[in-house]
Amino acid sequence: MPHASTTMKAVQLVSPDRPFALRAVAIPEPAAGEVRVRIAACGVCRTDLHIQDGLLDLGKRDFTVGHEMAGIVDVCGKGVDRAWEGRRVVVYYYVGCGVCRYCRVGDDHLCPHPKAQPGFSSDGGYAEYITVPLKNCVPLPEHVDLAEAATMGCAGSTAVHAGRMAAIRPGDWVVINGTGGVGLALLQYALQAGGRIIAIGRGGARSQIALELGAEQIIDVLETADTADRVRELTGEGADVVFELLGTQAAMSSALNMLRRRGRMVMLGYTVDAFQAHPIDFIVREITLLGSVGSTLDDLHEAIELLARGVMRSPVAESLPLESFDAALMKTRRGGLGGRIVLVP
Ligand SMILES: [Zn+2]
Ligand SMILES: [Zn+2]
Repeated sequence: MPHASTTMKAVQLVSPDRPFALRAVAIPEPAAGEVRVRIAACGVCRTDLHIQDGLLDLGKRDFTVGHEMAGIVDVCGKGVDRAWEGRRVVVYYYVGCGVCRYCRVGDDHLCPHPKAQPGFSSDGGYAEYITVPLKNCVPLPEHVDLAEAATMGCAGSTAVHAGRMAAIRPGDWVVINGTGGVGLALLQYALQAGGRIIAIGRGGARSQIALELGAEQIIDVLETADTADRVRELTGEGADVVFELLGTQAAMSSALNMLRRRGRMVMLGYTVDAFQAHPIDFIVREITLLGSVGSTLDDLHEAIELLARGVMRSPVAESLPLESFDAALMKTRRGGLGGRIVLVP
């Protein structure tokens, strides 16, 4: 039986389609080139629900979930400058192989043989500590709130990545189809890139936040017969860019229909639904379809820079103790929150 001070609380995946389990596990020690981070906050992401439901299954079991982490460097491994001890950081959640064609250019998120993916297939942030390579730590200025910064680790960086892929030009009409954490972050990214924003949501607190963050138009799906018609009405011809965050057949079809000629559709959300469309819908308007997954380390640095300058904000709806992970996941599943929920170990 390990001594109490050598173990920590961690929330782990036992097997998909079963609730996560709160366990006592060994506190990790940093290897050479790594640091240990004492986690101050870990955001609850919809992807955590996908992992619990088995919709996203990378084949691994008995690892700690959670991938939106911020905290304080606690111990430095061999070869790491001790000056890092005590620094506030956000953790980047891909550890690529470092040598493949993707890693070579900084696209660790596409690495076919990653060394680790904290929270997806290796130990993540629903715990008191995590060890990661120093490179994965993005320093935070003192004035940035750790809970808010944690949510930049996924929602914010994912938005920056997708926003960069869409190559938004000043004056572009940009539709945000879904006003969750990533949607609200995308809204702000697109706005600072010069976009004119139409946010599509289900009314309530989220739509209010979208307006406050700078959306020019809000469409409430519950009160709109055809959102694509409405977007064409508002824009003249249609949107330049649609970020599709919902992943239902209905949402994907209307996203495709609301684009102007040469429009770009960026897919980020998914459910069990397949996407069905006729080729002619892409051909005659020369539509570009883009997929966007996660982010690069550079995207996370950019997201933190935008947060530090106050250009992007990430409202935290509620902080709950780690033990309340079930309630946090349930509230996230229900949706309609005024921001992210974070778990505090
Ligand atoms: Zn690689
Ligand atoms: Zn996430």
